[in-house]
Formats: sequence, structure tokens, C-alpha cells
Amino acid sequence: MRLRKWDGARLMQLDEILLDMDIKQLRKTLLDWYRVSRRDFPWRHTRDPFRIWVSEVMLQQTRTETVLRYYEPFLEKFPDVNKLAEADEQQVLKAWEGLGYYRRARGLHAGAKDIAERFHGKMPQSMEELLRVSGIGMYTAGAVASIAYGEAVPAVDGNAVRVFSRLTGYDACVDTTVSRKLMQALGEKMVDPDLPGDWNQAIMDLGACICRNGQPDCAACPVLSLCRSGGTSMSCVLPIRAQKKEKPVEYYDVLLCFSPDHRYVAVRQRTENLLGGLWTFPMIKREGNQEDEHVAGMPAQMPEGGRSLGHARHVFTHLIWEMNIVECSLAEDQVRVSREELEQLPFPSAMKKALALCRGLMK
Ligand code: SF4
Repeated sequence: MRLRKWDGARLMQLDEILLDMDIKQLRKTLLDWYRVSRRDFPWRHTRDPFRIWVSEVMLQQTRTETVLRYYEPFLEKFPDVNKLAEADEQQVLKAWEGLGYYRRARGLHAGAKDIAERFHGKMPQSMEELLRVSGIGMYTAGAVASIAYGEAVPAVDGNAVRVFSRLTGYDACVDTTVSRKLMQALGEKMVDPDLPGDWNQAIMDLGACICRNGQPDCAACPVLSLCRSGGTSMSCVLPIRAQKKEKPVEYYDVLLCFSPDHRYVAVRQRTENLLGGLWTFPMIKREGNQEDEHVAGMPAQMPEGGRSLGHARHVFTHLIWEMNIVECSLAEDQVRVSREELEQLPFPSAMKKALALCRGLMK
């Protein structure tokens, strides 16, 4: 079988490599290795598609050691897709607290609701159907369908791309649309038709333990004799990645505001925000590039009477937050008020419009 011709020379070249490669031997060798070397995880003791789905979402961009701490507790709270669909978003985010990339939790929750509504609460039974669920993409659909249902489909994520590009000596940038399609096609071609779940997990384990990011351990690799770049300098060069843009940096004052009765102000972020649905302390974004001042120990742009407690840095996939954490009190002159209390306070004329708007909001 030849690959579909959506690319020119590069595809022809890959196609020839695949014809040259002893794919049957590759499958057998890798699966034999997987049988004795596979990593043992709780999600590898089940064929329940919901549980496999949860594990795959948790594992995206997160180390397995971290996921191990969250997987079982999450499933105790939400043991099946309908329980997850019925849950309040705040409960789901709470169970996800500390795992990061909260968009995944919201996506999982939205997907569960979609399955409850459009699939009568039953997990879709094939890759094609899984792809119709809100938030489920090619990788996750492939992983769930192959592991839970034994469907002969690949699960091509960053790990698999790294392994495939090294195995075939693919030396074009893997971050282009054409390359992504090629890697998916390679996955389709290579997947073991009888044990697709094991095959996909074997690729995951090979990528995580031996064909690692940076320096692969080719000497320990079970498929060294079948690999086009194994044991050569190319194994460290591949895959070729697009140059990453520098992440923008945003600066904030994070306010730990407490009232005289020692209660702190917390703010729920709007759902369209980066941390939508989660709670933070009030944050004031600082203007302009104040990097030099920050390096010197953060400038004094903080609320009057505020006391800087320290700095924190958080790196998101696309953005960095530099935070100056400030303690400030809501003393007698800064209080939280009800509508009735508001009417008792003397406000200046300058606040007339704001006051009217506030009354409107408090109705
Ligand atoms: S031989 Fe080296 S480069 Fe090839 S798959 Fe194994 S670890 Fe990766």
C-alpha cells in the first residue's frame, strides 16, 4: 500500500523508506520489548474508554509521576462520563487543581456533557465517532479507540513524531501542516493491526524511556538495527522543529487584600480568560516594559500601604507571568458593602456615574 499523495518529493521519499523498512519485524521487535519493559500505570489495567480518555487528557504536557497523584482521586469523584457531565465546573476544576493547563479540564468536562447529550451518555465506540465529540482530537481519539476497542488506528503525539522522524530519518521540519499529515500517515501505516493499543503504548514508552527528547539512548534501543538514524549524530538532531518564538512576559501585582475580620478577597476569573472559572487574588496588570526594575527587585507600583511579600514567576506554554505579591489591608476606609450599606456612605459627585452603574449591578 502506498501513502496518499498530498505531498510531492518528500512523501515519495518517505514512501520508499517505508517500503524498504521491514515493518513486520519492527512491530514484532517493539512489541516483544514492550511485553517485558512496559511501564505499569493504573490506566493500563483497564479497557474502560472513559478512564483511558481521562488518563490521556491528564498526560498531555504533564509528567506521568504527577498524573499518578491525580488520576485515581479524580475518578473516585467522577467514576463515569455521566457523573462528570453532571458535575459543576467548579468541582471539576477543584479536582484538577495543581495539574495545570486548566483548559484540558474544561475541555474534558465539555466533552462529557456533549457525550451525555448527543451520545445518550455512552462513550463513542470508534475513532470516527470519538472525533465528533467536542474537544477530542486525533491523538486522543486514536489512543482511546486503539487501547479500549482494539481499533487499528495510530495515536500520534509529540513523542511518536520524535520516534517516527528518527526511525525514518525524516529531516524536514515536523511542525508544518504537511509534515503533521505525513506523520499521521506514517502512524497509520506502522500501527500493528492485531495489537494497536499495545503498539501505540510501546511507541509512547520508547519515546519516554529510550528515544528521549535530546539525547536518545540508541545503545539500549530494541529497534536500533531497524532505525535509519540510530547510533548516528542525526538521532540527536531529529526531529527538526520550527524555531520557537520568545514568550511574552506580563507583570502583575497580586493583592492579598484582607478585611479587618481577616477575610481575604478572591476573584473568580471570567471563563474566556486564561484561567477562566478558577479563582485568583485580585491582580493589577502593570504597564510597559519594567523588566529592569523587576530584575532589581520589583518596583514599588503597589497599592498605598501595601507590603511586598515576594515574587513569583509562572511559565505558561505561550506566556510568562512575573508577579509581585502584595499584602494590603481593607481597613476601615476599604470595605465590602451591600446595596443598603452603599446608600449610607457619602460619595463625591465624581463618583455619580460609577455609583449609578454600581446600583444597577447590585439590583
Ligand atoms: S535507535 Fe536511537 S534514534 Fe532510533 S528509535 Fe532507537 S533510540 Fe530512537
